[in-house]
Amino acid sequence: MTISLIIPCYNEEEVIKNSHERISSVLKSCDFESEILYINDGSKDSTLGILESIAAEDPGVRVLSFSRNFGHQPAVAAGLEKCAGDAAIIMDADMQDPPELIPQIVEKWKNENVNSVYMVRAARSGESLFKKATAALFYRLINWISEVDLPVDTGDFRLIDRLMIDEFNKLEERKTYIRGLMTWVGFDQVPMYYERDPRLAGETKYPLSKMIRFAMNGIMSFTKKPLQLATHLGLLNILVGLGLVLYVFISRYSSRIETVPGWASIMIVIIFFGGVQLLCLGLLGEYLGRVFDEAKKRPDYIIQRTINL
Ligand code: UDP
Ligand code: MG
Repeated sequence: MTISLIIPCYNEEEVIKNSHERISSVLKSCDFESEILYINDGSKDSTLGILESIAAEDPGVRVLSFSRNFGHQPAVAAGLEKCAGDAAIIMDADMQDPPELIPQIVEKWKNENVNSVYMVRAARSGESLFKKATAALFYRLINWISEVDLPVDTGDFRLIDRLMIDEFNKLEERKTYIRGLMTWVGFDQVPMYYERDPRLAGETKYPLSKMIRFAMNGIMSFTKKPLQLATHLGLLNILVGLGLVLYVFISRYSSRIETVPGWASIMIVIIFFGGVQLLCLGLLGEYLGRVFDEAKKRPDYIIQRTINL
């Protein structure tokens, strides 16, 4: 039995050597075969050079190097496409997902005879209150509005067996929200709870802008509810409008209400419904943009170089 480790790396020169040593020492004590796939996602620092020297010493290390920075999700998708193991474990390069858990994950997978073990973050240390709060909120929101029941507080750290990997690789859509697609694929999946550690060294490679894009991709690819929001707002609009028409009629034929003033209320109605219309247009644009991306059929990533593959 072989387990493939899939590890995306973007500008990880500060951690990658230590991370590799830690992973290797865990794997040495395991009774299964393994391969490690590092995906260099267009790093601008010396990450690729370090990966080259690691791969030169260890034939069990494979490296995929992208032609530029395509993002974390495409890097994971590339790893899943190229891995050869009977199962794969996806984890981060910064050791926030502790490799010491690998033997337990594999054991749980075998003992419970399931297709996947997904890792749920029971606690996360070393991350800002802002990140923790927005992440907690996001996972609950997307689970609530999504058409699939997505587990909360679950990232890409998980084991998936060959059956699931092959089904996942068959999906022809763009892989922008892998944790969701994994749930969508189905089969028997069980959770395992763990504590997420702080980053070993260096800065996060997920600044707020990338986080927001990632969250939008997740929501847009897993629910059409925001689009229905336009319909609901439209209905509400009509109801309010009917009330207003009634009010106008009464005002016109009743001598007790002055009809000349009304500038303020008209302004409010214009500004408010103008905002609602722009919001709905923006939502349409978001979905249309994704349809546009899918229609172009560009690949998720381009591999410039492979080592030991
Ligand atoms: N990563 C990547 N491409 C990117 C951004 C991040 O391959 O464009 C990798 C990064 O090297 C790390 C993993 O994705 O292995 C998670 O990134 P990070 O730890 O910076 O995110 P955080 O844990 O802060 O959310
Ligand atoms: Mg991290």
